[in-house]
Amino acid sequence: MTATETVQQGRSRRPPTGGPVNLVGLDRAGLEAFFAEMGEKRFRARQVMQWLHQRGVSDFEAMTDLGKALRARLGEQARVLEPEVLSEQRSADGTIKWLLGLEDGNAVETVFIPEEDRGTLCISSQAGCPLDCKFCATGYGGFQRNLAAGEIVSQVRHAQSVVGDRLTNIVFMGMGEPLLNYDAVLRAIHLLMDDCAYGLSRRRITVSTVGVVPKIAELGRDTPVNLAISLHAVTDEVRDRIVPINRTYPLERLLRACRDYPLPRGRRITFEYVMLDGVNDSPAEARRLVGLLDGIPAKVNLIPFNPFPQAEFQRSSQEAIDRFRDILLERGMVAVTRTPRGDDIDAACGQLQGRNRDAGDVSVGTEGV
Ligand code: SAH
Repeated sequence: MTATETVQQGRSRRPPTGGPVNLVGLDRAGLEAFFAEMGEKRFRARQVMQWLHQRGVSDFEAMTDLGKALRARLGEQARVLEPEVLSEQRSADGTIKWLLGLEDGNAVETVFIPEEDRGTLCISSQAGCPLDCKFCATGYGGFQRNLAAGEIVSQVRHAQSVVGDRLTNIVFMGMGEPLLNYDAVLRAIHLLMDDCAYGLSRRRITVSTVGVVPKIAELGRDTPVNLAISLHAVTDEVRDRIVPINRTYPLERLLRACRDYPLPRGRRITFEYVMLDGVNDSPAEARRLVGLLDGIPAKVNLIPFNPFPQAEFQRSSQEAIDRFRDILLERGMVAVTRTPRGDDIDAACGQLQGRNRDAGDVSVGTEGV
């Protein structure tokens, strides 16, 4: 492909189909099939995965154990797609947020959150989000499209190139609903767990979902990583209003899916609960939450609401948050209040919009991808 063609593709609205295959998005099975089609041995998959994901190499010519002829063929039939870094912001607390440009002009945000004992990367699964939760900035930006597996994994590749071994955990808690982009997310998880790629144990990977019930069961069957549920309310009445997908999958069905989820031994399902002043933060609601989660190995994560310009909600007072948490603790539950991280750079939960605030629309500037 010539340079001009690359740029034209970069400007088109849809991701390209056909043409060279982006190897970043192929898991081991996918790469083996790719090499089989080329008439090559299966172990090539392993070699290429190590170059791409462990050594961070993108240039086929640098993959010295592949042989000259194979490298040349890969140069024609394959490519290694890297996002364009539209911005990198660093918070006073060490959090890093990247705005990464995709080939078609969309952009997603990825956040690295360093802690004492680990470094968590929060990745996006969709450009925008179709779910319209009333307290989330991503929903307000509308939905653009699902990310390809390669676009999910390249967030990890990019972060690793910056923070290296400090990256130890992955959470699908960025933009989008991972279980509405199931196949790509599953392929990305395969790569995260593969010893020839990122080699993470399933205990270090968390999928957060608003509650796409049929897909929770599927995830449990395919690859039971840690599960986080964005619960946010204890009655269908309130949840219908702030998390509209509840009208399709009400609380009872959601909690049944949680009860059935095959948790790794000793693990708990995380229930995220955004604290909205006067909406879901009363002591009665805390007590009801204890009842709802009865029998589920659960950990409740109270998230103080993070404001964004269009939001109609206020953060609960510190008193209300502490009282809510204490009610859970007194009744023997595991509960913590999540400290907002990176809120000075709009990197905290619910603040990801995938826009370059300084540059306005990012649909220009995809050259050089
Ligand atoms: N769609 C998935 C993945 C996003 S995870 C899900 O909903 O689980 C992001 C987490 O931040 C979710 O629990 C989400 O409900 C929460 N959140 C969204 N907006 C928020 C806000 N303004 N303040 C605090 N938490 C928010």
